[in-house]
Amino acid sequence: MARYHEPVCRLCRREGMKLFLKGERCFKEKCAVERRSYAPGQHGKRRNKMQPYGLQLREKQKVRRVYGVLEAQFRRYFAEAARQRGVTGDNLLRLLELRLDNVVYSLGFASSRSQARQLIRHGHVLVNGRRNDIPSFQVKPGMEVALKDKLRANAFVNEALDTAQGRGVPPWLELDGENYKGKVLALPTREDIRLPIQEQLVVELYSR
Ligand code: SF4
Repeated sequence: MARYHEPVCRLCRREGMKLFLKGERCFKEKCAVERRSYAPGQHGKRRNKMQPYGLQLREKQKVRRVYGVLEAQFRRYFAEAARQRGVTGDNLLRLLELRLDNVVYSLGFASSRSQARQLIRHGHVLVNGRRNDIPSFQVKPGMEVALKDKLRANAFVNEALDTAQGRGVPPWLELDGENYKGKVLALPTREDIRLPIQEQLVVELYSR
């Protein structure tokens, strides 16, 4: 499975905002956006006025990077969102939110989506009691997502869970932290997604 393997803090600096790709580090002074709040590279400090196409492109890249999805897969999500009834932008975000790696992260079992992906790939995540090692698996309302028992003593998991319980889980999910499991209560609505995303720009980009 193809993945992005370069330093992820560059991605935040390119987008000019925190994308929270590195877990705990994102909340500390070490965060690269806090230390160098300009784009990476030799000409990173230049500020050129962006044209509409540039704005749309950057927004699409931002969404893609937040959810850790590569271009081809992102296009497939967009095609599916456009095919569904309703507002394409909302559909797109809902499809991304319903990815299993995003749900594991949102429930607080991992401190970042990439850590959640690793837990899933290594077979530590159960969906309705059965092992599921597909990070892009689409969860549905009513499904239960849990960690395997042997992870209950894992320091990284417990640290992530403490942090998540502090910030709260999204209203469409329910967390049972003591038993290391959660439930999908409903489909996420646009209001449930608190990320600063202008999905309309992504729709405009792909509609050109
Ligand atoms: Fe982005 Fe986190 Fe790196 Fe900061 S520490 S630049 S928020 S990935």
